[in-house]
Amino acid sequence: MNSVANVRQDVALAPFTTWQVGGPARYFLEPTTVEEIVQAVDWARAEGLPWTTIGRGSNLLVSDEGFPGLVVRLANNFAGVRFAEGKMHAQAGLALAQMVVKGLEHSLGGLEPMVGVPGTVGGAVAMNASAHHVEISKGFIEGRVLRPNGQVETWSFDDFRFQYRHTRLHDEQGLFLDGVWQLDVVDKPAGLARVRELQQWRNQKQPTNVPTGGSTFRNPGGEHPAAGALIELVGAKNLKVGGAEVSEKHANFIINRGGATAADIQALICELQTRVRDRFGVVMHPEVIGLGLAVGLPR
Ligand SMILES: Cc1cc2nc3c(=O)[nH]c(=O)nc-3n(C[C@H](O)[C@H](O)[C@H](O)COP(=O)(O)OP(=O)(O)OC[C@H]3O[C@@H](n4cnc5c(N)ncnc54)[C@H](O)[C@@H]3O)c2cc1C
Repeated sequence: MNSVANVRQDVALAPFTTWQVGGPARYFLEPTTVEEIVQAVDWARAEGLPWTTIGRGSNLLVSDEGFPGLVVRLANNFAGVRFAEGKMHAQAGLALAQMVVKGLEHSLGGLEPMVGVPGTVGGAVAMNASAHHVEISKGFIEGRVLRPNGQVETWSFDDFRFQYRHTRLHDEQGLFLDGVWQLDVVDKPAGLARVRELQQWRNQKQPTNVPTGGSTFRNPGGEHPAAGALIELVGAKNLKVGGAEVSEKHANFIINRGGATAADIQALICELQTRVRDRFGVVMHPEVIGLGLAVGLPR
């Protein structure tokens, strides 16, 4: 264990999530190099330990018991960005807001709506994050992925199989290392003005200054109202379990009022699913991903 560079033991995960809940990771790595990641993942596999990757924890519900294996956190330490031949090369841990602003500094844009998504490039690629009809896959050319067998491969745009909040990374436990984007040539002041406009929109429509996991459920699609509207229709706005509460500002957001546990949030999620299912026959599937727990009602 001591031979694995920079791996720490029993590290609290709550501070690494936007909900600010959850127990510790048994082993935890914030790598600075690909080699460190490969070494740690090889070690976890050899020990028979589960392992996973996180970014800024903005789409994660971590169990109160924590995670019994290795968590690799790709954030500030693995956040390089460079530009060559009009293309952006970004590492997985780069914050999306930084990605947008750095791009605009080089008069490259098109991903401005990502500025309000509080995750990393890696988390966004894994989730195929989108906002205002712009997906992180816009302009994406290729990316490097660490496979569970320790091999690093380059995947093309098609290889990632971008879908609504899902990619092949989840199916095959691929760890996204870095990627290349061909962005649009844009006017920098106009891009920055758009960024400010988008930030104002977020502040008006969503709870931005309280701990939250973002949109709790995927929108059911088809003819159904959006998840937030369904939650309002069953009278669950402001519904509380312990320290967890359905946001007044946006019913698809659950906020941590202070002292919430993962169990509180999980119970509230199940209650919302039950109410909507019983009233409308619609099963709302969580968008939030569980770490050490399965989010929502059993499937
Ligand atoms: C206030 C708020 C607003 C939000 N608004 C939006 C929005 O408008 N649109 C939207 O799509 N989402 C939104 N989200 C959700 C969230 O920000 C996105 O899903 C984001 O892309 C997650 O990035 P992350 O770095 O926080 O990932 P995490 O939450 O840490 O992880 C999410 C998933 O990605 C995986 N993952 C993370 N990094 C990697 C990697 N390098 N390689 C492989 N897998 C990885 C994790 O294993 C996990 O399964 C919002 C969240 C909040 C709190």
